[in-house]
This record gives sequence, structure tokens and C-alpha cells, in this order.
Amino acid sequence: PAHREPPSIRRLDEAVVNRIAAGEVIQRPVSAVKELIENSIDAGSTSISVLVKDGGLKLIQVSDDGHGIRYEDLPILCERHTTSKLSKFEDLLSIKSMGFRGEALASMTYVGHVTVTTITKGQLHGYRATYKDGVMENEPKACAAVKGTQIMIENLFYNMAARRKSLQNSADDYPKIVDLICRFAIHHTNVNFSCRKHGAARADVNSVATSSRLDAIRSVYGVSVAQNLLSIEASDDDPSNSVFEMDGFISNSNYAAKKITMVLFINDRLVECGALKRAIEIIYAATLPKASKPFIYMSIKLPPEHIDVNVHPTKREVSLLNQEVIIEKIQSVLESKLRNSNESRTFQEQK
Ligand code: ADP
Ligand code: MG
Repeated sequence: PAHREPPSIRRLDEAVVNRIAAGEVIQRPVSAVKELIENSIDAGSTSISVLVKDGGLKLIQVSDDGHGIRYEDLPILCERHTTSKLSKFEDLLSIKSMGFRGEALASMTYVGHVTVTTITKGQLHGYRATYKDGVMENEPKACAAVKGTQIMIENLFYNMAARRKSLQNSADDYPKIVDLICRFAIHHTNVNFSCRKHGAARADVNSVATSSRLDAIRSVYGVSVAQNLLSIEASDDDPSNSVFEMDGFISNSNYAAKKITMVLFINDRLVECGALKRAIEIIYAATLPKASKPFIYMSIKLPPEHIDVNVHPTKREVSLLNQEVIIEKIQSVLESKLRNSNESRTFQEQK
């Protein structure tokens, strides 16, 4: 190879750094919706509605009835690393909120146009402010508002040509957004969720707060799922040293879908866990005909110090201490539950 001078190393502009980081946090429209819903849940909302235009590329709007945002905080709201949830690194060990690092709103302002309307308790009117590249564009304007916060993102990825093109060319994110909201709705059963496409008269998800998980699943996923569910529970064998608890609903062997639905919450965070999913698929493969797949809703609770929430830019994955032990325990509980339900069914059929 020809002898070359080493290229000189330069410091990237802050704006470039921020846009690159933002593209990792907000990978596609559905990632923005997830962050906004998590913020609404963190704000103690009981009602969250989502409006989507053009698969989220034109508009994503999330309105909630949570505690709102203080007027004084609006100027730094969308700066990177501004948060009301974390103050020192150690807080991560006991974090209960879904957000913690103040990156979501900032990221959205680097890849879209963000407008925030919010009102706090006891105020006569709300405020509206717009943001670009982490900065509030002008003084907040007084405006009418009911309760809580509404965040609007327009023209997502307007400044990332390749990303926008590839999203425009593929099927849009709306079904993914609906799927996401269904998942939140069956876990956060005390919150009303709705999701609507811009211009549509009807909502595609419309969950009503209920104290029964099964009712929530029935209203969101339909009767055919709900009537074929078994409730499951598991915890450590040694209760004095209790480090994990699980409860949920799993489909019985009468239920057969083309694709697995696996809704997993760990410490109230919607996450994915490939290892657990595979372990469950193995159990079902032994009971179901080959092409049919189960429905799983599972909520796992662990001591916060046993879970690392900071392993993925989208917070989609978490890493667990004692993962193997937990998975084995869940496998054996599922296996015996399915076996029992099959046996009692055969028994009933013979009667
Ligand atoms: P994080 O959630 O990690 O703190 P975000 O960028 O998502 O970071 O949000 C920054 C801050 O803005 C939050 O800490 C919270 O105080 C405030 N906030 C965002 N969305 C809402 C909302 N819907 N209602 C009330 N406060 C909100
Ligand atoms: Mg957040």
C-alpha cells in the first residue's frame, strides 16, 4: 500500500455528535412513541392518547393528564441530560421511573420539530414552547390547556435523509405503534390508553382502566385470546431469600396463533429477553402443533439492584443477575401448568 500521511483527528461539532446520538435513541417512529408514553406514565397519568400521521413521520402526538411540567423548567426541558428522575449514578440502582437519563426529549429535537404544551396543578392556563436541537426556540406562550402535557413531534428524521427514505419505503410504523400501546395497556391496567390514526374517526386501541388483568387482555387482544388463558405465578423456592416474583397469563394448548406474542415487563419496564422467549418456545413446541404459537403476558419483579437498565440506547433490553436460574424456574412452572391443563381437559373429554 502507498505510504500515506496519517489523517488529522478533529473534534466533531456538538450538533453532529447530538444528532448521531439521537439517531440511536430514536431509531424509528415507534421508539419515539415508547419514550413519550413512558414519560406520561412516569408523570402519573391515568389517561394517555396517541395520534399518528403518516406512520409517525409527519406527526406523533401524545397527550396525558399527568403532573405537567413547571414553567421554570421549560427552558432546559429538551437539553441533553436534563431530568427530574436521576441525580447521581447510584440512583440507577434503585430507579423506579422508566426514564432516567434525560435523553429522549432532547433526541427528538435533534431529529424532528418538537412542541410541548403543558399545565401544572392550580394554574389558570398552560404554556406552549417549541424546541429545536435541544434549545427552546422562543419564550413559552400562554395558552389554554386542560390537565397534563401534550408533546407533538413533527417531520421526524427531516434531517436524516437516508433514515427517512428507508422508513418511507418500508411498511409504516403505525401497526408497530398500535402493538406497543396494546402491550402497555394490558400491563398498566389503571391507565386508559387510546391510539388513533390522523383523520380516522375511530381509535384502533381504546382501553378502559380496570382492576382485572384478564378483562384488560380481553378488551385489547379479544375474546379468542382471553378465553384460552391460564394464569401463572412463580417465585423463589426459598421465600426468606426472595429475589424474584413472576405472574402472568399464558395461552393453553387450544390457542394457536401464527406468531408468538410475548409481552414481558420486568420491574414494570417493557423489555425483551431473547433467552426467556426461546426457553418458552421450547416448552410450547412440545405441546402445540408445529406451526402454532402461544400468547404470553408476564410480569417479573426483581430487586432493582439485580437488573441493569442501562445496557441499550433504547432501553429495550436489560441484563439480569441470575438469569439462568430465573429462566429455569419459569420454564418448569409453565411446563407443569400446561401439562395439568392438558390432563384436566382430556379428563373432561373422557367423562
Ligand atoms: P427522562 O425521562 O430520562 O428524565 P426525558 O428527556 O424523557 O428524560 O424527559 C425529560 C424530563 O422532562 C423528565 O425527567 C420529566 O421531568 C419531564 N417530562 C417529560 N415528559 C413529561 C410528561 N409527559 N409529563 C411531565 N413531565 C415530563
Ligand atoms: Mg423519558
